[in-house]
Formats: sequence, structure tokens, C-alpha cells
Amino acid sequence: MLLSSYNSVFVAFSLIVAILASYTALNMASRVSGSTGKASALWLIGGSFAMGFGIWSMHFIGMLAFNLPISLGYDVPLTLLSLLIAIASSAFALWLVCQKDLPWARLVLGGLLMGTGIAAMHYTGMAAMLMTPSVIYIPWIFVLSFVIAVLASVAALWIAFRLRRDSTRATYARIGASLVMGCAIVGMHYTGMAAAQFPDGSFCGAANNGIDTKWLALLVIVVSLAVFAIALIVSMLDVRTNLLAISLDQANSELVQLALHDNLTKLPNRVLLNDRLEQAIQKSTREKRHFAVLFLDLDGFKAINDVYGHHVGDLLLIDVSRRILDTKRCEDTGARLGGDEFVLLIDPGEPEDTAALAQRLIESIGSPFSIARNSLHVSASIGIALFPNDGLTAHELMVNADAAMYHAKELGRNGYCFFESTMNTNAHQQMQLQQDLRQALDRGEFLLHYQPKMLAPNGPMIGVEALLRWQSPELGLVPPDRFLPLAERTGLIIPIGNWVINEACRQMREWHDEGHQDWSIAVNLSTVQLGHASLVNVVRTALARHSLDARHLILEVTESTAMRDAEASLEILERLSELGLSISIDDFGTGYSSLLYLKRLPANELKIDRGFVTELVQGNDDAAIVSAIIALGKTLGLKIVAEGVETVEQQELLTRLGCNTLQGYLLGIPLPAELLLKSLTATAISESTLTD
Ligand code: C2E
Ligand code: CA
Ligand code: CA
Repeated sequence: MLLSSYNSVFVAFSLIVAILASYTALNMASRVSGSTGKASALWLIGGSFAMGFGIWSMHFIGMLAFNLPISLGYDVPLTLLSLLIAIASSAFALWLVCQKDLPWARLVLGGLLMGTGIAAMHYTGMAAMLMTPSVIYIPWIFVLSFVIAVLASVAALWIAFRLRRDSTRATYARIGASLVMGCAIVGMHYTGMAAAQFPDGSFCGAANNGIDTKWLALLVIVVSLAVFAIALIVSMLDVRTNLLAISLDQANSELVQLALHDNLTKLPNRVLLNDRLEQAIQKSTREKRHFAVLFLDLDGFKAINDVYGHHVGDLLLIDVSRRILDTKRCEDTGARLGGDEFVLLIDPGEPEDTAALAQRLIESIGSPFSIARNSLHVSASIGIALFPNDGLTAHELMVNADAAMYHAKELGRNGYCFFESTMNTNAHQQMQLQQDLRQALDRGEFLLHYQPKMLAPNGPMIGVEALLRWQSPELGLVPPDRFLPLAERTGLIIPIGNWVINEACRQMREWHDEGHQDWSIAVNLSTVQLGHASLVNVVRTALARHSLDARHLILEVTESTAMRDAEASLEILERLSELGLSISIDDFGTGYSSLLYLKRLPANELKIDRGFVTELVQGNDDAAIVSAIIALGKTLGLKIVAEGVETVEQQELLTRLGCNTLQGYLLGIPLPAELLLKSLTATAISESTLTD
């Protein structure tokens, strides 16, 4: 037999090529199953070529490592045939691992076919040497090489099938698997070589007219480099797509977070809450269970926003949401609807559990908050609606929980209330009222009453305050306290308020034309109106339309209205004041005005709140407060008006304390324009008869 030997550098190189080919193939397999249609077919073809070339070039590098003391060559057609076999078996293997499942029987059969393919490639490659006499194979080693090929194929198929889905872990596992597979392929090759015996005097028929080994070396090295490159590019693409997938994933979850959660508190928002409500309804219907909707509204939050500003208000809401999260169980949903309204969905064992949770929430929110070095106090009112008793739809449950919450507020706040059907009528009444209110303006159901403002102590009348009334066909004459809060909540106050401004100016024009040129008219403004950009224009237009001089118009804003969003209010009040009209601070003494702020307001008049006047008796606390307010007003250069004057004692005392103007039932009740004139002439007549 001819003595053979191995070149260890080529052996090592063959191993590296085998490992790279395996890695490339595994990678391609995951690409094939990760894509569909044309892309999948392209990956399959590419993968088959890469893997086939890889295995084939490994084989020939192995052959290059093999030295015989005679010159060697390879027959071209047989060499190409061996390459074809390698590509075909790779295609078969890749196709197999990309199927939906891989039962054992199919795995074993596939391994058998693929192993046969590899062995066939190897022995075809050997046959390409065209040895005479032919190579003698030691039977058991030959069989062993075949067994190794089949086992390696089964292992490779199994691993590739398991790793076909992409993940970071799969990348590491794939590297490990490539090492195992590479070793198995190399093992098969060298076992096959060990089986081959070359009798003395053997002669390689392809040495002269086949491919020269030098050319073969070049070819194989180029092919292996191509395998390297493909492996590299594929794995780079792989990493890139992985990174892309991860960042897309992150962007997606951020979007979902934004769309479904409240920006400030990060709690679920109304959209997500509705979704959870629907789910809870479906689940509870299926399982015949109960659940509860808790509607939570903070008491006193508006005042904190007004006094400390929105920034502190926002921080408070964040802290409140944290306490809610800490109090509820983790399976319950806690959402923020906006403003200071929160909703909880809970799955109680018993109604008592719900009551206990509501109580814990109230206690938790009731303890002081420490925010921006302030100790702040708020409380919570909670309304509870139970599924299915209090409503079968998400809307019904929310409306009823809301109604129960209002009831809790009416009962004195800082408490919870279970829904009862009687509460609904209240809610229905509100709905009805809102509808009627919308139509009232078009139907001309609003009117103004005018209350005289007298020069202290007894007149003459120097002007009037316009007070809104609603002549409702169903309810009769409705005072403003009954419908203004609703008008403010719904925004209806804007058109209604605009009507008041215009009507007051119109009436003033009429009185001026009748000879009362020294009268002025006072119009009340609500917070919502002051926050609306169009106000300045509305006032300017009304004055122009009725050619009324601005100094005859007084706008009354309450102290807390002016304080709300102080800087913005200040700007609007300044622009109004630049029109030449007067600003009066209404209900003074009930708000939180800081003196510094008061000084900056472009006000001309200060109206002492009725509350102080009612209790006014010489020498009591209210008298002290009133004289302090008057002193303060005078230092700021303001005219002082007292409202709610009902008795002669109040009239005298207020005059003595320094009030310029008095207003109240004693001096005149609010009346429609024509009645006001009549009452004035009546008093004038009775006064003149008295003096006569
Ligand atoms: P206000 O600005 O403090 O108006 C004075 C209220 O006290 C009026 O009630 C008036 O009828 C009442 N009053 C006058 N003299 C006396 C008195 O001697 N004793 C007692 N007990 N009450 C007296 P009214 O007309 O019911 O108005 C209530 C509130 O509604 C007003 O309080 C004002 O804040 C608001 N309001 C009225 N008209 C309008 C309006 O056109 N627009 C806006 N935004 N608010 C208005
Ligand atoms: Ca007023
Ligand atoms: Ca007032």
C-alpha cells in the first residue's frame, strides 16, 4: 500500500471551513422559516448553495491535506457531480427543517437521506481521482464513515429545526451547534479517508487531464473565502435586523404606552379603561361574577390649583395616583380620566370588600401631602357601581358610579356611596336641564334684572348691577345659582355671557337716551369667560354697537376668578382695563388673594362680600374685618362697595366705616328694567311727599 500523510495546516483549515459552512447553513435555515413567499425561496436557494459549497470545499481542502507519493488530479465532470450532490442534499436538509413540524420518523429518514448525500459526495469526490487500480475501502471503516454522516445529519437537522426561530439565545446556540456540526462533517471525511487504501503502483488517471491540485487549491480557497464572506454578511444582516426588530419593538411599546396611558400619572387612560371595562363585563358575564366600578373625585383640588398653581396641582395628582396604586390590589385597574377624576375596576369577593377598599382609599388620600415644601390637604369622594346590578354596559356603569360620587359629595365629601336607583333621577334632571339650557338662548328665555347701587348712605342711584335670570317655560323664573354651574361646566356660559354683555350695554344706551347719563352698569364675569380669548373683543364690539362710553361699564370678577391662573387673568384684565372700563373685585374677603397680587390687579372697585355685611354689628369681628378691608381698599385707591345691605343699622355702620356705595334689598331689590324705573320714581315721589 502507498504511504499517506496529512498536512496539518490544511486539516485545520478544513475544520474551520466546515464550521463556517454549518453556521451559514443554520443561519439561512432561520431566515427561510422567518420569511414567506419569494423571499423564503431565495433564502432556501442561497442557503443550499452556501452550505453545499461549504461542505464540498471542506472535502477538497481535506483532500489537499492528504499526501500520496504520486501526483494527483481530479476529473472535472465527477468533481462537478460531487458539488451538485452536496448542493442538492443541502437544499433537501434546509427544506426539511423549515417545515412546520419535524416528527422523529421524518427526522431519521431525512438524516438518512442527507447522510447518504454527504457520503455520496465524498466518495464521488474520491472517484474523481480516477485511480488505477481502484481504491480499496476497509469495509467497517467505510460503514463507520457512513454512520457518522447519517448521525451528524440527524443531529444537524434536529439542531437546525430547534434553532430556526431568531433570538439572542439562538445566536449563541447556533455558534455552539456549528462547532458540533463542523466537527461531525470533518469526522466523517477523515473516517472515510482512513477507510481508503491505495495499492502500491497506483496511478491517478486524472493527474494529467483533470484539474491540477494547484488550481484546485486556488479554487477551493476562493470558494471557502466566499463561504466566509456569506457567513459574515448573513450574520451581520442578522444582527442588524435583530437590532431593528428590537428598536421597532421598543418604539411600538412606547406608542402603545402613550396612546393608552395618561401622560402625567402614567395610569391607564379612558381608552384603556373602556377596554378593561368591556373585558371585565365579558368575563363576569361568562363566569356569573360581580365586579365594582369606583369613581373617585378629589375634594378641594381646584382650590389648590388656584392658590399654588398648576405645577403643584400636577405633582399632587402624581402623588395621589401613587397612593391609589399602593392601596389597590395589583389585579385591579386604576385609571385617570383627566383632571382630578380617577376610576378603579375591582373584582371583589363581597360588597364589604369594596366598601373596605373605598374606606382605605379615602384614608390614604386624606392624609397630608408634602409637595414643594407645602403640606397640602385634599380628600376624596367615591361613588361605587356594581356589575350587573347597577348597569350592564360600560357607559351605564360609569354614569351611575359618577352619580353615586356626586351623592357622596352632597353628603359632605370625604366619603363613599354605593349607587342607588334614586340617584339616577338627579342625573336625568341634570341632563334635561342641560338640554333646556341649550335652547334657552335661541328661544330668548334669558333676561336681566337690575339692582341699584346707591351712593352711601341713601342714594342717589349711581348705577346698577345686571343679574341674569332664566324664564323657563317649565321651571318658571330660575335664579342664576341653579343653572350657572352647569353652564360653566358645559361651556354654555360663553354664549350666555356674551348675550349678557350685549344686553347690558343695550339697556344702558336706552337709559342714557332717556337722560340718565351718569349711570353705570355692572356685569358679572365667570372664570370660564375670563379664560376665553374672545372676551376682550366681545366687550369692545358690544360697546361700539351701542355707542356706549367704556367708563359706564363695570366688569365684576370674583376674587377667586381673578386668582385662578393669576398671570393669564392679569393680562386679560389689563387689556379690558385698557378699553377704559372699570374692574370690580366681587365677593372680596372670601378668597385667598395675596396683597401683592391685589396690588397688581388693574381694579377700580372692591365689593365686600355679603357674608361680612349680614353679620355686621358694631364691635363684632365682622366690623373689624370690614374696617380693615376698607382701610386696605383705600390705600390701594379703590372705591368700596358693600353688598347685601338689608338693615338700617348695616347701612349706617357701613357708611361710618367709609363705604362709598351700598347695594342690598334695603335700597332696592333686583328688578326688570321698566319696574326699576317705576320703583325709582315711586321712591322719589314718596321722598318728596315726606319732605313736603
Ligand atoms: P353676586 O354677584 O354676589 O350678586 C349678588 C347677589 O346677591 C344676587 O343674587 C342678588 O340678588 C343678591 N342680593 C342682593 N342684595 C341682597 C340682600 O340684601 N340680601 C341678600 N340675601 N341677597 C342680596 P343673584 O341674582 O341670585 O345672583 C347670584 C350670583 O350669580 C351673583 O352673585 C353672581 O355671582 C352670579 N351672576 C348673576 N348674574 C350673572 C351673570 O350675568 N353672569 C355671571 N357670570 N354670573 C352672574
Ligand atoms: Ca356681582
Ligand atoms: Ca357678590
